[in-house]
Amino acid sequence: MSLVFRSIPDTYRYSSTAREAELLTGILGKPLSGNSEPVEAYESELARYFGAKHAVAVSSGSAAVMAGAAALDLRPGDEVVLTPTCPLCTVYPLQSMGLVPVFADTQPTNFSIDLDDLARVVGPKTRAIIDIPMWGYPVPVKALRAAADAYGLPLLLDLAHGHGVTVDGKPLWTYGDVATFSTHDSKILSTGEGGFVLTDRADCAERARGFTRFGNLDGVHLGINLKLSGLQAELGRHRLSMFDASLEKRLANARRVLDGIAHPVVSELSVVPGGKPNYFTLLLQLPSTETSERFISHLAQWGIPSDIAKYGCRPLYEFPLLRSFARDCSNAKRLLGTITTIPIHPSLSEDDLDHIVRVINVFGTGSSR
Ligand SMILES: *Cc1c(COP(=O)(O)O)cnc(C)c1O
Repeated sequence: MSLVFRSIPDTYRYSSTAREAELLTGILGKPLSGNSEPVEAYESELARYFGAKHAVAVSSGSAAVMAGAAALDLRPGDEVVLTPTCPLCTVYPLQSMGLVPVFADTQPTNFSIDLDDLARVVGPKTRAIIDIPMWGYPVPVKALRAAADAYGLPLLLDLAHGHGVTVDGKPLWTYGDVATFSTHDSKILSTGEGGFVLTDRADCAERARGFTRFGNLDGVHLGINLKLSGLQAELGRHRLSMFDASLEKRLANARRVLDGIAHPVVSELSVVPGGKPNYFTLLLQLPSTETSERFISHLAQWGIPSDIAKYGCRPLYEFPLLRSFARDCSNAKRLLGTITTIPIHPSLSEDDLDHIVRVINVFGTGSSR
């Protein structure tokens, strides 16, 4: 079969623009600060939708990570353990607060911290464990929660990709003391820029809220302004109301692609038992780094983008700014080296999805442009 190049967009574009324009126009002229009514309404709706006691809307996913660290009362010099497979966007906010990243390897087949390696790096200065489940795939979080409890350490989940992921029927976020989310335009729920923090702990919610509001200007608690604006919150409210439908569409798209894949060396990254991905992207795994690199360039040739190539994903300690934190994390390196992301979002047409399947299935058969 002959293939024709087709440019597959990597980002979901909302099509409900008329309704959104109407909603935004409707609140112009009203108060729109981070303490305005649309933000309060958005926070209640986030809390209700995700089943959290507290939701704090913030200006970005990066702000959410900072608010999450503040929620756990982390202080400059405190060490936080995390995996080097996360993006720079998780680590820079932590470093900007004076926290010291300590890298622990991932598990061989998922993005959660390897518990044996965790045992090697937890020390007297460790104040938190941070897990970053990537691209909407669940992780074996129950064992990690138990380990965190055994060490007496809080667990922060950076779920910038993880809205709607479940483990054993429960939202993934509920396994953390605090969970942070991004609603950047490239993420699964978008307010352009934005993020939020979820927690069931009242003390954590209070500290997160205070930190993002200049420490409530009491002159005692440090904080900066990391609030979300009313316009973004209004957009978020509408898009949250459509989130269930978009998750279903993503799942159906993923099924269609997975059912079509007939290539002997291409398979989905294994999904942890009891876990349900949100299909922020589909993750495919290849048997070796060399095959994976060839696969990614084959996909690119036919118009299918990969986050791995786009962001140059590699263990973070390989970047100059983080080299001094290097530790050998061979699972992490292999994991990032053998996977690729496949766009699966609701704006893709059936023709787009069928194109993706065809391109995957001809990999290595000599079909090239
Ligand atoms: C995108 C992302 C962030 C940062 O979110 P922004 O909204 O871009 O600030 C943090 N952590 C992870 C895992 C991300 O993917």
